[in-house]
Amino acid sequence: MRKLATIRKINNLLPIEGADRIMAAVIDGWTVVVKKNEFEVGDLCVYFEIDSFLPDGNPAWQHLVEKHPRIFEGNRGHCLRTVRLRGQISQGFAASVITEYPNGLPFGSGVITNTLGDEKFINEGDDVSDFLGIVKYEPPIPTQLGGQVRGNFPSFIPKTDQDRCQNLIGKIFHENIDAWYEVSMKMDGSSFTAFYNNDHDGVCGRNWELDVNEENKTNSMVRMYVDSKLQAALCKLRLNIAVQGELQGTGIQGNKEGFKSHKLAIFDIYDIDNGYYLTPIERLEIVDRLWKLDVNKEMVVHVPVLHMNVSLQELKITDMNLLLEFAKGPSINAAMREGVVFKRIDGKFSFKVINNDWLLKNE
Ligand code: AMP
Ligand code: MN
Repeated sequence: MRKLATIRKINNLLPIEGADRIMAAVIDGWTVVVKKNEFEVGDLCVYFEIDSFLPDGNPAWQHLVEKHPRIFEGNRGHCLRTVRLRGQISQGFAASVITEYPNGLPFGSGVITNTLGDEKFINEGDDVSDFLGIVKYEPPIPTQLGGQVRGNFPSFIPKTDQDRCQNLIGKIFHENIDAWYEVSMKMDGSSFTAFYNNDHDGVCGRNWELDVNEENKTNSMVRMYVDSKLQAALCKLRLNIAVQGELQGTGIQGNKEGFKSHKLAIFDIYDIDNGYYLTPIERLEIVDRLWKLDVNKEMVVHVPVLHMNVSLQELKITDMNLLLEFAKGPSINAAMREGVVFKRIDGKFSFKVINNDWLLKNE
């Protein structure tokens, strides 16, 4: 689960040209606009990431709900997006933490209050999403991707997900400073997983395994699985693997690439028996074998790779701002891509870098 609301430190406060009542607060890799004099550098705050759905009724953010209310799963609230304020990009929201308390508080701790008025003692790093009732806002699933569910997402396969670079400054710029990466394009479609495991095979969306039956024959995931001959090829290959990719095309996320038919772009292959993601080279090899087993090359492709094996040094990326700039650029057909995904060559560390221009335009 993504930690949507966490206790973090204000690392820096920068002036915004031409604006005297607001400032840009730097919190880890994020920049968020705050009121002047609301914080000092070093203060603790509750930082809410973009996509957080803030429920109605908490005075700390009620002004946001009143200004831009939204209904999600029947509840009123506010959904945090990427915005530009006086020319400054702002992502998420920072709320102050009470650090002065009648009976005193140990250094580096504080108290926060939720919508019910309950109080909670907190320390830096705490995840307070549940306490504050914060959930991830998810756009409604189009019916052609819904369909009949066979069951939960298989427990022996990790769900597709990528951490955001803004939360990984230390890992990216210190621990992995010498790492080699595959850099692929981030495609904006719907997450697709197909697997073969000990004589069983199946197809899944982001959260569920789907039935491969008559009633689901119009479901886009199931159609891709069967019509592209991916199902047949996996069953011939008889390797216990999960093939993960992004399904794109009409009816999915506005089909920003303008594809005439549905396309699956494979970005990962998971070795179920050994519990790890294949390296990019091993992955390409399997994709090749699938094509040789008659998988339709028009329908099933490998995700576009910008760099097969590259270091941040080679790319001259030395800080978060340069990394975020690097994410900008065109996609396959659209002028603007959603971003890029860095995967360490050993398959054991990866993160996404979303193009902020894309976020501003698409949210
Ligand atoms: P998000 O779309 O923000 O939830 O980011 C994570 C998702 O990006 C994954 O679950 C995948 O479905 C999708 N994705 C698109 N392109 C890629 C790629 N090149 N590598 C890995 N994941 C990708
Ligand atoms: Mn996505």
